[in-house]
Amino acid sequence: MFRNFKMISNVVFGRGCFNQLDDILKKRRSNIKSWVVFVVDDVFKDSMLEKRIPFHSKDMLLWVNVDDEPKTTYVDMLTLKIHNFARTLPSAIIGIGGGSTMDLAKAVSLMLTNPGFSHDYQGWDLIKNPAVYHVAVPTLSGTGAEVSRTTVLTGPEKKLGINSDYTVFDQVVLDPELIRDVPSNQRFYTGMDCYIHCIESLQGTYINEFSKAYGEKALQLCREVFLNNSDEADQKSANLDDKLMMASFFGGMSIAYSQVGACHALSYGLSYVLGTHHGIGCCIAFDALEEFYPEGVKEFREMMKINKVEIPRNVTKGIGKEKMDKMITVSMGLIPLWENCLGENWKEIMTKSKMKSLFKVM
Ligand code: NAD
Ligand code: ZN
Repeated sequence: MFRNFKMISNVVFGRGCFNQLDDILKKRRSNIKSWVVFVVDDVFKDSMLEKRIPFHSKDMLLWVNVDDEPKTTYVDMLTLKIHNFARTLPSAIIGIGGGSTMDLAKAVSLMLTNPGFSHDYQGWDLIKNPAVYHVAVPTLSGTGAEVSRTTVLTGPEKKLGINSDYTVFDQVVLDPELIRDVPSNQRFYTGMDCYIHCIESLQGTYINEFSKAYGEKALQLCREVFLNNSDEADQKSANLDDKLMMASFFGGMSIAYSQVGACHALSYGLSYVLGTHHGIGCCIAFDALEEFYPEGVKEFREMMKINKVEIPRNVTKGIGKEKMDKMITVSMGLIPLWENCLGENWKEIMTKSKMKSLFKVM
């Protein structure tokens, strides 16, 4: 069966288009009881962006903290808060932030209309009821969370997304001005998430013309952004933020119809056991994968050099047998990722001892 890919209904792109959000939400405020929830990364407390949020008197402003990546328990707590805020359901959820905040917005919009706990829905197509209308406003680019049909959550037993057609945002607001002030290291790590999506998708066995069309363009944009040697002023005028925002979007589209690969599989192990954040975890894992992605890793190192970014080293040093085994189990379990990277007989190549040796050099 071919995947019948669900796409976002509406996208607005352009510098300053965040100002259009109130207008976009007008349709959702059709009766006087309507209200919406702004799910906002708490890094924006007391910022200019906070003042620009088109907040109406009945609305809820829900600050979220993403020091840790989203957990199912956090999603359930936020959902309860929204339920307790008013007797009716909100008519929109608007997530403003990076991948973590966008994922939280997706998850609460699903959990408001589906009974039980969010960990019950970690998996594929377990969601029964349509979500509350939900909007993404990325303030950090690279994950592709703005286009994907998943919300990645760490649950009691696993780190796994709630994958469903209902997860997909109804509206995305792509305003490159919103990513201008991201700290440079963070911008690089999350940007590399996108670069790695492209490499893993394009070099994978699942590749097809749909994924290639998006992946090649996203890769080209990543190169324009991260292999750029010019000084700061020239970089500003080159609209690199616009390029990075579109790279993230297209990179997400590319993996939607193919798959990620070895780097993501290993980074999930790091994240589950050590709590390593997604972007930085992908960088750490990718740097160890020269054997599998030789050209990609070479270019990635070049990008690190140009952007003067370091990645943490020796992160698995002295972690002990139990944690190492857990890391291997988590990573091994991501079968489609390995199959995409190494083909059907991946188990013959990626043995436990091979994986252990890869983790050891990280
Ligand atoms: P993030 O959302 O975790 O944010 C990283 C840091 O940047 C945080 O401290 C945040 O407060 C800060 N930040 C965000 N925007 C900022 C801005 N404009 N200025 C200053 N600081 C800002 O980072 P991320 O890399 O975008 O997202 C990672 C998350 O995305 C992980 O939880 C990962 O699992 C998830 N993810 C989801 C998908 C998907 O398809 N749903 C894909 C890949 C990754
Ligand atoms: Zn990723």
